[in-house]
Amino acid sequence: MKESRDKFDTMTNIEWSFARGVSPMAHTVYGPVPSRRFGRSLGIDVVPHKVCTYDCVYCQLGPTTTLTVDRQRFLDRESILVEVESTLARAGEVDVITFAGSGEPTLCADLGWLARRLSDMTSIPLLLITNGSLLHRDDVANDAAAFHMVAPSLDAGDQATFARINRPHPQIDLEEVVAGIAGFRQRQTASMRLEVFLARGLNDSPQAVESILEAAALIQPDLVELNTAVRPTPGRRTPGVSASFLHGLATRFSCPAQPIAPFPQEVRGGDPFTDLEQLAGLVLSTLKRRPCTLSDLADSLEVSRHAVLKALAGLTREGRVRLEDRGSHHFYVASP
Ligand code: SF4
Repeated sequence: MKESRDKFDTMTNIEWSFARGVSPMAHTVYGPVPSRRFGRSLGIDVVPHKVCTYDCVYCQLGPTTTLTVDRQRFLDRESILVEVESTLARAGEVDVITFAGSGEPTLCADLGWLARRLSDMTSIPLLLITNGSLLHRDDVANDAAAFHMVAPSLDAGDQATFARINRPHPQIDLEEVVAGIAGFRQRQTASMRLEVFLARGLNDSPQAVESILEAAALIQPDLVELNTAVRPTPGRRTPGVSASFLHGLATRFSCPAQPIAPFPQEVRGGDPFTDLEQLAGLVLSTLKRRPCTLSDLADSLEVSRHAVLKALAGLTREGRVRLEDRGSHHFYVASP
């Protein structure tokens, strides 16, 4: 799923574990980790490493080891609930509980059961990050409907590009995938962000882009998020597209769309006017989700405090952001 692809915001089980020098197999529940898109995210990894319906060329977790469309009971579901409960008790503030991680979470046969039990246990919103390949199936759609937010991905609108970039299981048909995501969108109340990953030479041709635009127009998500490779993929070379390509593409969707790739070197350097504008957009979209301190913003956006302050100065002047004192901390808040 997309969360595994370019995780500048929500780390995978594996990344989180390696960052702390512990065994990745030990953690079904991980975090909370700061997410630029979703706030402080507690992750739940419900499938073993690289059990997936796709074998995306850009996957940060390496090659898919089990390419399958069969759902299974991978883990002891009661133990997952206990682990979430104990993690929540000591985790502090958590903005979202995210099902993501090391493979495609809809392959977990306990997905819906877990989501419904978690909804009984906590009011924290549940987010499902999925490649969307199985949403045309009733059992999967019913499970996904138990989530407050669903973030499927779609990197192609034509079969040849789909095969090239996502390398799906032979039983997966792109038309069915698109119809499944669109049908879910029409029937369910969960909010939907559609993530599109762009790779140079793979799905950035005018024809490939046109077919992605058409598919997104059919789906009509709340938001399209455009991503690309901004750091090396272990063992694989996936060239990213430029920030200007993503910005230009964002204007062509018939629904709201925005780049989400962090482009740290471009935010920090290059033309100051363009960069500051880009950073201000990122700051504002972060604050629309939750109030943040200056440190929160600098850490989650991976830029200096000085750069964040410059962006905040403009946003405050324009009345789009205000400063609030809460206890001993100063929080920046997006104006309604
Ligand atoms: S869909 Fe599967 S192969 Fe593709 S990025 Fe996600 S985990 Fe990796």
